[in-house]
This record gives sequence, C-alpha cells and structure tokens, in this order.
Amino acid sequence: MTRSIVMPPEIRRACDAGALFVLNHSGGKDSQAMTVLLRELVPAGQLIVVHAHLREVDWPDAEDHARATAAGLEFHRVEAGKSFFEMVDRRQMWPSAQYRQCTSDLKRDPIHTWLRRLCRERGIGLVVDCLGLRAEESTDRARKPAVKLDGRLSIRTRRVLQWLPIQEFSTEEVFEAIAAAGQQPHWAYAAGMSRLSCVFCIFSSKADLCIAARLRPRLYRRYVETERRLDFTLQNGRTLEEATGIPVAGGVAA
Ligand code: SF4
Repeated sequence: MTRSIVMPPEIRRACDAGALFVLNHSGGKDSQAMTVLLRELVPAGQLIVVHAHLREVDWPDAEDHARATAAGLEFHRVEAGKSFFEMVDRRQMWPSAQYRQCTSDLKRDPIHTWLRRLCRERGIGLVVDCLGLRAEESTDRARKPAVKLDGRLSIRTRRVLQWLPIQEFSTEEVFEAIAAAGQQPHWAYAAGMSRLSCVFCIFSSKADLCIAARLRPRLYRRYVETERRLDFTLQNGRTLEEATGIPVAGGVAA
C-alpha cells in the first residue's frame, strides 16, 4: 500500500477555511509525488501549480513533464529576469551551499513575486505553500519544520503557511506514489539520474555528474569552459572534468 500524506491540524484548518494550496513543481519526482498525493486531499479548486523555469540549465522538458503530471490543475510558469549563467558571469563565481543565490534568485524570488501578485489580483488572504523537500536529502532539510509561517510572504491581510507534505517520505515511497497514480517519473531517472532540477547542480553526486555529462554534452562543455574562465570550480575541490573523468577538448566534449 502506498504511503499517504497526513495533514497537520493547522493545515487541515487552512484547507477547511478555503486556503489556496500552491504546489511548487520542478518536474522532479518529489514534487510530482507531492502533487499526485495532494490531489487526493485538497479540493481541485484550491490547488494551483507553479513551475520556476531555469533557462538553459534545466532539463529541456522538465516543464512539459510538470504540466503533464499536473493535468487538469491551474498551472503557472515563472522565470527570473536573468539566467543561471548570467548570474554566474555577473558575480564571477558559482553559487555555493552558503550562498545559494541560484535558488533564491532563480526560483524562490520569482515564485514569491508571482504569488504576491496573484493574491492581490484575486483577493486571496490564506495560502499554503507546498514544497516537496524531504528529510532524507540533507540534514538541513531534515531540520526544517514541517509547517511554519512564511514571514516573507505574510502580511497583515495575507497569511502564508509553508508546508513540507512529504518531508518524511523515503525515495522508494515517492516512486511508489507516482506509480500508484499511473504516472511515470521524468525520463532522466530511468537514464540513471538520482535528482532532476538543474542538470549540473552544485550538490550533484559524482554519478549524476557523469550521467549528465553524457546526456547533455554541450551543456557540460559550457560548465567546464565557465570553470576554466572563472578559475573556480562548480563543486568544492575538484573540476567537473576531474569529477567525471570526461575531458573537454577542442571545444567539444570528448
Ligand atoms: S538545482 Fe542546484 S544549482 Fe540548480 S538552483 Fe538548485 S541548488 Fe542551485
């Protein structure tokens, strides 16, 4: 039997009071599982899906996948004014675990801007912002409260709760939820990737970097060339070529 989401009491009260549930959907397995499971719990009219598109560095069809797996729900796409590489070039450095400008500038801030406008236009005063973060992924995510008041988005006339509905789910339970809904995860998982999001992430495992370099050689070359130009590695202590063992020569990934 697949695992279900259990609504904490404050989220149940918000749901009963007609809150808008915003499902942050990257196209990855966690947001996909969260979406299929919340559809069973929350009236469809209270659900809205938002996808932050990361120009150039996303999997090209991540948005299509998110749309397809959220079919029938209101779907919005947001995009930052600058691309990942524009951000890196301006700062002359990659983002890092301490300075995750990529997440804040390219995902969180555009989504927050969109959400504030949506609430103003529709007169919405109660929102549950749902994120598919899981404790298994990192200590930081394990420590996050499952429910908290979002101080950035809440104002006198608008209360926004941030909720992590699948925080305690295992990877296996996530894939089970997707299968039980009759859906497939994004094809990159079958190709061996353990995470989706940016094709090359500051947190990618060595295995993911190797697979991504083979699947997206032109993008890999761009990252390697940027590392060389900045004399700054995407991940601490090793270049992408050292991590993957895949050299870039003559302008083309070998
Ligand atoms: S996937 Fe990785 S590189 Fe991309 S925005 Fe998130 S933390 Fe940054």
